[in-house]
Amino acid sequence: MSERKKVIRTDAEWKQILSPEEYYVLRQKGTEPAFTGKYYHHKENGIYLCAACGNELFSSKAKYDSGSGWPSFFEPISYDNIETEMDFSYGMRRIEVKCASCDSHLGHVFNDGPKPTGKRYCINSIALKFKKS
Ligand code: FE
Repeated sequence: MSERKKVIRTDAEWKQILSPEEYYVLRQKGTEPAFTGKYYHHKENGIYLCAACGNELFSSKAKYDSGSGWPSFFEPISYDNIETEMDFSYGMRRIEVKCASCDSHLGHVFNDGPKPTGKRYCINSIALKFKKS
C-alpha cells in the first residue's frame, strides 16, 4: 500500500471552499444533469484533476465519447489515485468512483467501456478541473 497524503476537511470547510453545485456532487454524491457539464465535449490534451483537491485523476488520452452525457474515460491515470465502492442508492447496484486523496464523489464506473479496459468511468464535469498540457 502506498502512503497517500489524505486531504481531510470538515463539512463546514468544504462548504466554504466549494460552490453549492460542486458541494452537492463532490460531497453529497450528487449527479449533474446529463449533457450539461463543461467537459462532456471537451477534447483538449491535458489532465483532469479533482475539483476539490487537485489530485490527478484522468488523462485526455483515456477520454472517449460514450454518448452518455458525462465525460467518460476508459482508465484513471493511476489506480492509486481513485477508490471504488459499492453504491446501492436509488435501487441500483453501481460502483461509485471517489478521489483517493479527499474522498470526494466523482461518478461511477461501468463495464460497457471500450478496449483495452472495457471500463467506462462516467464522471461528473463539475467534479473535474482541466489542466492543459
Ligand atoms: Fe480529491
